[in-house]
Amino acid sequence: MPAARRRYQEAWLRALVKLAWERASGVRRRMEAAGLRPKDLSSLEALTRFPVIKKSALPALQKADPPFGGFCTVPLRQVRKIFVSPGPIFEPMGPEVGGWHAEVGLYAGGFRSGDIVLNTYAYHLTPAAHMIDEALILIGCTVIPTGVGNTDTQVTVARDVGATAYLGTPSFLMTILRRAEEMGVGRLPFQVAQVGAEALPESLRRTFEEHYGIMTRQGFGTADLGMVAYECREKTGMHLVDDAIIQVCDPQSGEPLPNGQIGELVATVNHHTYPMIRFGTGDLTILDDSRCPCGRTAARMLGWRGRADEVTKVRGMFIHPRQVDEAAAKVAGIRRHQVVVTRKEHQDVMTFRVELAEGAEAGAVTPALETSIRDVMKLRGQVEVVPRGSIPDGAKKIDDRRKWD
Ligand SMILES: [Zn+2]
Repeated sequence: MPAARRRYQEAWLRALVKLAWERASGVRRRMEAAGLRPKDLSSLEALTRFPVIKKSALPALQKADPPFGGFCTVPLRQVRKIFVSPGPIFEPMGPEVGGWHAEVGLYAGGFRSGDIVLNTYAYHLTPAAHMIDEALILIGCTVIPTGVGNTDTQVTVARDVGATAYLGTPSFLMTILRRAEEMGVGRLPFQVAQVGAEALPESLRRTFEEHYGIMTRQGFGTADLGMVAYECREKTGMHLVDDAIIQVCDPQSGEPLPNGQIGELVATVNHHTYPMIRFGTGDLTILDDSRCPCGRTAARMLGWRGRADEVTKVRGMFIHPRQVDEAAAKVAGIRRHQVVVTRKEHQDVMTFRVELAEGAEAGAVTPALETSIRDVMKLRGQVEVVPRGSIPDGAKKIDDRRKWD
């Protein structure tokens, strides 16, 4: 399977690069500046030669070559819709019918032909709701484009039309379900939900699944790329779609990192109207290519781990405040925690400072936390138990005290 996937991806990559070279002047300019011709980007490895396009650079690139920065391959009259994301960044919806690969994840998450879907993503300016609608139509679903807010209307429409599926943020799903109970409507007919755009705590997922009987899965995408990853029934991370080549890269150098390390999600997406080649999202994630019990062989991204500008590099590995919290959360008996990074004899030293909760024993917490640090951060760190009050309110989660001179 990995060999078949590689053949598939390299075939569309070559076609995409050729198309972009011919019709997307913005891509061509970048290739020429890097001394690249289409034949130089014909394999997954060679693709890395293309310099990362930072999302943060798009507003300026588009301003210099409006409206799309030379990244759109079709004339403006063939663009069906123009979206506006914060930045501002403009995104075109081209003439082709396609669901920005969202259909793959929706299907894996239980969406089927005949489902009636309440789509509560925003319909004004930004593309998410529109992209997903196209994917739902490909599957054969009926869409109710309710958009954001108007909770009472969402409840009555879902009941009256018999909505079987929900799309939107997990927090808004909870709001709708609670409101239905307050209004005396009782249980809404939802059976499946795909949620995104914010974190999904497992406790909230359990409430949806066990209390309300709604199979709830997550998808990950961006306005520029469409959907690139989705959860299967196993909920062990988000499988990457075959129409996106995802690299997790060093946010500074753009070099791909080994699987298991945290880095910036850099994506190349098989999209002919708007070919984003090595687009640096600024989002941090980790890839896992171990086998998933569901049988899919696509690697998984292990959730969203923050923004690239928040990372610190320690002994060649990136660490992020969320990893610090994750490592501490796995160990009972910690009241407060903070990581301090220092240098000793030209070596980085990572010290995990903790204040113990009432009744906790340093002898139990220290080894458990050392294991947790290794598991979560892939680094060795020393644990220092400090007296209560040593870590002040609002202390930096990662305090980088290294001096570089
Ligand atoms: Zn799976």
